[in-house]
Amino acid sequence: MSTTVKIKQEDKCIGCEMCVMECQRQLKRVGLAGSYIRVLRNINAGSEFKISLDPKILELKSNKIVGSCPREVFEEVEGNGA
Ligand code: SF4
Repeated sequence: MSTTVKIKQEDKCIGCEMCVMECQRQLKRVGLAGSYIRVLRNINAGSEFKISLDPKILELKSNKIVGSCPREVFEEVEGNGA
């Protein structure tokens, strides 16, 4: 069965964007534009950063994305993560 990435602990994110770099590496893109993962400063209360996953994240190798994060923010789940 296929696997994908799911956000497990958003409050642990430190905004390093290693996950974004891994996403871009898999897409063979330079820079941050068009990434399937976006890490934004959270202006509301709660976690410091807000992570946004594009549904196209399904196309990428989820184990590599999960492994790229030094804070274990993501988990790998079976199916489409719904
Ligand atoms: S790699 Fe992890 S800690 Fe770094 S920005 Fe991505 S989710 Fe946040």
